[in-house]
Amino acid sequence: MAKKKKLQAVCPVEHGWKTIKPAGITEPGSAEELKTGDWRSQRPIHNMEKCIHCLQCFIFCPDCAIKTTEDGKFKEFDYYHCKGCGICAEICPVKAIDIADESESLEKEKKENKQNAKK
Ligand code: SF4
Ligand code: SF4
Repeated sequence: MAKKKKLQAVCPVEHGWKTIKPAGITEPGSAEELKTGDWRSQRPIHNMEKCIHCLQCFIFCPDCAIKTTEDGKFKEFDYYHCKGCGICAEICPVKAIDIADESESLEKEKKENKQNAKK
């Protein structure tokens, strides 16, 4: 009769799971440190010409990922924290925010950076 192989748990981390860095918010007030922008598959794109600076997007953004100017106008997205949920685009009364595919946007950005570097 063939011998049964002993099953062994395989852990890829040298000192076990307890040494793995937590990937969530574990300390109060630590959300800002987490690069939630890495989770994004879609990104918001702002159109300044259409924007009426009502700041509805700022109020509704669940990640506080919309930066404003000192005089209370839309400034830019904080792509470090923006998860690409699309709420800002939905809420914008003048459709000044489009949602684009993240990988296509990154490709476009790379091309633009290359072209700017050549100038
Ligand atoms: S909701 Fe739209 S119009 Fe209002 S500030 Fe945001 S982008 Fe501009
Ligand atoms: S896509 Fe979502 S997380 Fe990103 S700025 Fe808009 S509302 Fe905030």
